[in-house]
Amino acid sequence: MTVAQSYTIESVASITGGVCYGKENLIVKTLSIDSRSLQLPGETLFFALVGARHDGHLYIKDLYQKGVRAFVVSNSESTDLKQYPEAGFVLVHDTLIALQNLAENHRKNFSFPVIGITGSNGKTIVKEWLYQLLNESYSIVRSPKSYNSQVGVPLSVWNMNSEANLAIFEAGISQPGEMDQLSKIIQPTYGIFTHFGDAHRENFKDEVQKLEEKIKLFSSCDSIVYCADNKLVDESLKSRYGQNRELISWSRNQAANLMVVSEEIKGNRTFIKIKYKKETKEINLPFSDKASIDNAITCWLCLLNLNVDDETIKERFPKLEPVAMRLEIKEGIGDCTLINDYYNSDLGSLGIALDLMNQQQKDKSKTIILSDIFQSGYTNHQLYKAISKLLEQKKINRLIGIGEGISSQSKLFTCNASFYRSTDVFLADLNRNQFKDEIILIKGARNFHFERISNALQYKAHQTVLEVNLNAMVHNLNYFRSLLKPSTKLVVMVKAFSYGSGSTEIANLLQYHRVNYLAVAIADEGVELRNAGITIPIMVMNPEPHSFDTMIEYRLEPEIYNQTICLEFEKALKRNGVRNYPIHIKLDTGMNRLGFVHHDIDTLLSLIVNNDHFFISSVFSHLAGADEQQHDDFTTRQIDSFTQWSDQILSQFSYPIDRHILNSAGIERFPQAQFNMVRLGIGLYGISAIHQEKLMNVSSLKTTISQIKEVSKENTVGYGRKGQLQTDTRIGVIPIGYADGFNRKLSNGLGKVMVNGQLVPVVGNICMDMSMIDLTNTDAKEGDSVLIFGDDYSVSKLAEQLDTIPYEILTTISRRVKRVYFQE
Ligand SMILES: *Cc1c(COP(=O)(O)O)cnc(C)c1O
Repeated sequence: MTVAQSYTIESVASITGGVCYGKENLIVKTLSIDSRSLQLPGETLFFALVGARHDGHLYIKDLYQKGVRAFVVSNSESTDLKQYPEAGFVLVHDTLIALQNLAENHRKNFSFPVIGITGSNGKTIVKEWLYQLLNESYSIVRSPKSYNSQVGVPLSVWNMNSEANLAIFEAGISQPGEMDQLSKIIQPTYGIFTHFGDAHRENFKDEVQKLEEKIKLFSSCDSIVYCADNKLVDESLKSRYGQNRELISWSRNQAANLMVVSEEIKGNRTFIKIKYKKETKEINLPFSDKASIDNAITCWLCLLNLNVDDETIKERFPKLEPVAMRLEIKEGIGDCTLINDYYNSDLGSLGIALDLMNQQQKDKSKTIILSDIFQSGYTNHQLYKAISKLLEQKKINRLIGIGEGISSQSKLFTCNASFYRSTDVFLADLNRNQFKDEIILIKGARNFHFERISNALQYKAHQTVLEVNLNAMVHNLNYFRSLLKPSTKLVVMVKAFSYGSGSTEIANLLQYHRVNYLAVAIADEGVELRNAGITIPIMVMNPEPHSFDTMIEYRLEPEIYNQTICLEFEKALKRNGVRNYPIHIKLDTGMNRLGFVHHDIDTLLSLIVNNDHFFISSVFSHLAGADEQQHDDFTTRQIDSFTQWSDQILSQFSYPIDRHILNSAGIERFPQAQFNMVRLGIGLYGISAIHQEKLMNVSSLKTTISQIKEVSKENTVGYGRKGQLQTDTRIGVIPIGYADGFNRKLSNGLGKVMVNGQLVPVVGNICMDMSMIDLTNTDAKEGDSVLIFGDDYSVSKLAEQLDTIPYEILTTISRRVKRVYFQE
């Protein structure tokens, strides 16, 4: 984020065709659409966006309390001036369109070149690489992360400012009709088409329609860079823009402006030779996969076209860095949590990282290790003053500033702060004992090499980790939400360590994404969540009488499944002098597990009606076979029974009572039975009953090869000498055994693991802490990564091999396997 020029909200009203009222001369500089990620409230203009299950107007009160004064709204009911005497409002018809119009208008103030990038894949990589390649020559404004949507593009374009002389924005679409809007906002003068593929095909009639929509981005461009090897792309661009635009293409096999002569992969590097304007040129890249090579050639052609000299090109391409858009959450020394974010450093991404920090473990002390921020468009004084305010507002307890720039402004910081001139000076001075039980954000510009700091503060866990992709989890959450009515409440099951993926990290994420309830199996799990700062309601599915006092103390709500438990809980409430406590009534409609059956209902009612110790918050039941078609008649009968029995209960009470019966498979297969609440479990973690392709894999279990040895064929491998070799074999040893949750039944070739994209069998018996694998037909080296399950080898496949279900695999990964969380 850089200083955009300031606008009064009166001028915002005139640009967006809105009506201004309240304080009309408020000055705003920053735009926000998410009440959770505020940076500088005093100068923020909040757009109350309205979606199918989201209404920004609901957060005005909260934002006002946090200091936001300027709002763009489409519903004036929530803008009472008596309640918000200091606020100024702009009333428009549609807040999203107003946001887009404001950005479109802002764009018109600048005449420097604007690169617009679109394509199915590679947009963010090409944008970030162009930034890496050009940022010494230009002062660049670019989209943060992958902000390329109807909302992300206007927020990106808003960053254009008079200090910059080049802008690079990406544009992504998922439906017909969207690109016109993005193209008007970006008004690119220079276009790049990266790659054309399958993403978002479902919303388009066919490939041609999708392509035609994408290339609308280029209608204002003078020149367009693309790869001519996709025939459809080549033809479409030529027929639409061939007459009046400069088309600049590259190709591996036909005439083009840049022709690839050879590509030679050596280890992890690729040496590429091309012909451009009759000259042969050469670069090398620190990557060897095809997508990276294609993206790099696209960037190269772009640089050649921008007349960047060959020396500079030759020097910069070998230094390209992978685009890690993800933040990483890891366990640190001294019970600390580390959040690593050292690829990107600007005020906007600092705000995002601070939000993630707040989303995790609100109650812990917070430290940030921050480097200088470059090219912000602010003076050092303005920049660090803004950062100081931001740190104050996000309640950061301690700052460790590294770099000349931030050190020179040390007086601006009010929190406990210390400063170092460089990463080396900091590391030389480092006392590890000063970090205890806190959450540490490590955020710096690339050239500060903060990965060295992270290494020094990281808990040296063993090499086996479960990587948990929090973005994938949110994607899955949103998929299930899309199957529900906007008013349906969502309980998320976080029992059994959130199906193995972690407890507080997941619960914090879910609370942040505003699910209504969490559900755990036993009281202890709920206590752990409360201790980590979880405040939303928590249900306990297996409440045990000895834990009732604790449950009441920690506001955990019991599932009541029979008369005994009901009476016991009532006793506990009396003992604690508590009235009006929420409980959840479980009905057994066919699972034959816990729950009241039909003829118990009268007794149940007699216990609860007119009893003011508790009230029924919800009535629910559980389906026994929602995932399988063969049981559909039975499922329908369960739903019918539930409807009747719960009707009978609800009719006895005058207050509202929630009802729920669907689990993940039920949500997908019986959405008509969602009542007003559902319980999401395995689906969140990436397993679908019918639409696996709609979900993203969340967890990956990974380890690394500790040792490789050549074992000749007369030998055996491992305990019991079970690994009888047929031929001379390259044996790899991996530090994962049955104590980690690598099931011993996978011994002797039944189990397979993936090494560099290739499946290889387990040799001999799996040991407690180690296993051996056959690497004979691979070029694997010691230290290479090994995938037990994950994106490329699914947990479902592994479950099939073990004749079990993914639930069991996920929940039996031992707690000693470190969980590492990623979030973009
Ligand atoms: C575990 C559980 C769920 C979630 O089931 P999934 O199949 O994982 O979606 C829902 N309800 C109850 C009562 C459960 O115990």
